[in-house]
Amino acid sequence: MTEEAKKERIEIEVPPKKLTITHAHCPNGCDLMEESVKIGGYASVHVRVRYKDEEGDMYLDPRYGSFENISDIEIPEGEIVELFCPHCGQSLRDEHERCRQCSAPMFALMLPHGGIIEGCLRKGCYEHELRIVSGEELLSRLFENDTLASFL
Ligand SMILES: [Zn+2]
Ligand SMILES: [Zn+2]
Repeated sequence: MTEEAKKERIEIEVPPKKLTITHAHCPNGCDLMEESVKIGGYASVHVRVRYKDEEGDMYLDPRYGSFENISDIEIPEGEIVELFCPHCGQSLRDEHERCRQCSAPMFALMLPHGGIIEGCLRKGCYEHELRIVSGEELLSRLFENDTLASFL
């Protein structure tokens, strides 16, 4: 990784369920939070899921590191799905990333302040990461106090 890239991008390891996503958007800016469907007491992240010729709604656990979800369609373990924005239909697949565990495509959710959360599109693969992409000033603030929560 170049010096420049190091400055621009940071990956954070977060203990499971310590952080909860409260603002997630599709790449076009649609709000994906669903207050009416709660998982673990929190508003879930609503996406459309497609597997082969089946399509349905899926609600993701907003607690980072948790993989509970509610899905309309049955997806066999190990299969790769496609995720879309339920509002504008935009694919949530990140064309630039591959899962480091299983090399499946990844999906990305946009967070406030330039953060991105990514997950593997393979059912049953638990690889995902939180990336905060922002200026140096924001980064230094991030490590003061408990401000990480404000990025979610
Ligand atoms: Zn959208
Ligand atoms: Zn994977």
